[in-house]
Amino acid sequence: MRHVVVISTGGTIASRWQGDGYAAEAAGREVLEAGAVPEGVEVRVVDLFTVNSSRLTTDHQLRLLYAVHEALADPEVDGVVVTHGTDTLEESAFFVDLFHHDPRPVVFTGAQQPLDAPDGDAAGNLYDALLTAVSGRDIGAVIVFAGQVFAARGTVKQHTVDARAFGSPDGQPLGRVEFGRVRWARRQPRREALPLPERTGSTPRVDIVMHHSDGDSVLFDAAVAAGARGIVLVGTGAGNANPEVADAVRRAVSSGVHVAVSTRVAAGAVAPLYTGGGAVDLAAAGALLAGALKPGQARIAVLAALLAARGPAGDGPDAGTLLRGVLDPQPPARQASDLYLVDGVGH
Ligand code: ASP
Repeated sequence: MRHVVVISTGGTIASRWQGDGYAAEAAGREVLEAGAVPEGVEVRVVDLFTVNSSRLTTDHQLRLLYAVHEALADPEVDGVVVTHGTDTLEESAFFVDLFHHDPRPVVFTGAQQPLDAPDGDAAGNLYDALLTAVSGRDIGAVIVFAGQVFAARGTVKQHTVDARAFGSPDGQPLGRVEFGRVRWARRQPRREALPLPERTGSTPRVDIVMHHSDGDSVLFDAAVAAGARGIVLVGTGAGNANPEVADAVRRAVSSGVHVAVSTRVAAGAVAPLYTGGGAVDLAAAGALLAGALKPGQARIAVLAALLAARGPAGDGPDAGTLLRGVLDPQPPARQASDLYLVDGVGH
């Protein structure tokens, strides 16, 4: 027998019609009963919370992170599946991934169709996620959806309602689930995990501000005034804004705010190409360029670095050092022995 802990958090996969719209209400056991469990797999369900994922807070994500680590504290557990709303799934999956050091995988899945849809995708996605949880190794947190397995990092929700909800604009899936078997296509080097945040209670504010034509620094400055300890500036093109915004970035960074630059473009990395308020000037003002991370995941990178920082007064690296490591687009590959297992269950 292989053992999987399924952590249920809500989302459309747990949603039913409420008379005027859908909302998450089903417990994890009900979600599981909507479909089949692969042969040879035993499941334990943890009902963590039941919310639609646009309502998630950092506090929810920290509870999820600790629940994953608690599940993996049991050496009998082969992997973890998290059922989650698709709206912010890429954020929670990346958050868990950044702190993940265990060879056993954490597999995020959900559904685009509600639990009570007769032609829904909940059962198939959950079945595929369970297969992936018992067959993947050293893959960190992944997203399994519509028969594809994606690394959490770099994966985004790409369609509001289509069953193929997720994709990796700058990469390829790690594998596919076909005929009850996970077929791995490639591996992605893993990074060092961030230190697990302490359960202190207070969580930092991290905002996202998007640039656009006729943009000014009013919303960026408002984020600083609201107490943001981190801001993701979503630039145009390869991460550009204007001189007024670059000045606001300089003021924010000099007052200790961590600024990361992402892009509103669907694919491609930000790059220091343009001056006149472009990424060249934003970087010179102290912002870090977020590579190919899209805004939601760039925000999670800043948040995770702030939560993990133990310095400068503590005994570990400060948030800036951690954030530079998280944003580094090409970390050194770990050893060749860190391959994931190619396996199949239930066929
Ligand atoms: N609103 C839903 C959510 O919780 C959407 C979904 O799960 O597909 O994110």
